[in-house]
Amino acid sequence: MQRAIGVDVGATKIASAIVTRDGVVQATRQTATRVEQGADMVIRRIADEINALMQQDGGEISGIGVGVPGLVNPEAGIVIDAANMRWQNIALREPLVALLDANLSVYVENDVRGAARGEFLFGAARGVNDFVLLTIGSGLGTAAMVNGQIIHGAYFFASEAGHFVIDPQGRACTCGLRGCAETVVSGRGLIANAREFLQRNYPSVLAPDALTTTAILDAARANDSAALAALEKMGECLGIVMASASAWLNPARIIIGGGLGNAAFDLLYAPARESYSQRVLRGSQANVEILRSQVESSAVGAAALAFR
Ligand SMILES: [Zn+2]
Repeated sequence: MQRAIGVDVGATKIASAIVTRDGVVQATRQTATRVEQGADMVIRRIADEINALMQQDGGEISGIGVGVPGLVNPEAGIVIDAANMRWQNIALREPLVALLDANLSVYVENDVRGAARGEFLFGAARGVNDFVLLTIGSGLGTAAMVNGQIIHGAYFFASEAGHFVIDPQGRACTCGLRGCAETVVSGRGLIANAREFLQRNYPSVLAPDALTTTAILDAARANDSAALAALEKMGECLGIVMASASAWLNPARIIIGGGLGNAAFDLLYAPARESYSQRVLRGSQANVEILRSQVESSAVGAAALAFR
């Protein structure tokens, strides 16, 4: 059985796993990233984690996939920009290969694109060559597969649906633009939505100074008006993003993932589906499936990069 190691490099932790070609996780590790120590030390720590996994397992590994939250040139193995990590133009693949105890191929990719490969090989995108993955966490990540290929674009900026402008007069986005989808469809967006409805005096148990996504989801499940309105607004905007993606790429499936996307899927599905149906071009939505992601761990998605 072919097996690979997937590594998800985040701003706070490095999660790694040995994964089979069927997506079965056989071993995992986790350590703190400690971004403040600089890229060289982080790369060393990634290598240490991979070496430790190989040593404790002892079996054969066919390759390594590494997912990074940012703009990645997978051909060169370079992280062009990862704002959360304060990385710019960091060569990742070559130094990593040099630090490994075994001679293995390393594939470096944007984490959401890695997750999309994971869904394609092991999860909700099995059997389709055209799909969109929307990961809702603190931000809104997107990846798209067209004709069996994950798209990158000329400068690796393709499928950044989180920064589709859905409201020119909307909220300021962390990217510097205004009214991006991410300002409504994300953890930050959900909290901003809830604050907005509290200010409009929607009845609620939520405390305006202590808003968290967990508190909002819990309140929504107890039928709290402000929490439900906040999620409805998020779902409506998610439907707009999905309709735009359909008009652009005509995916067979739209997969919703990410920590918040999974946790809130049941609450978001109905408003998103309704908003989507109202806005999508007739015909293009005929057979589209809207599914929850099935690959829970981003390290598993990263491992999918190594299966060619
Ligand atoms: Zn933006």
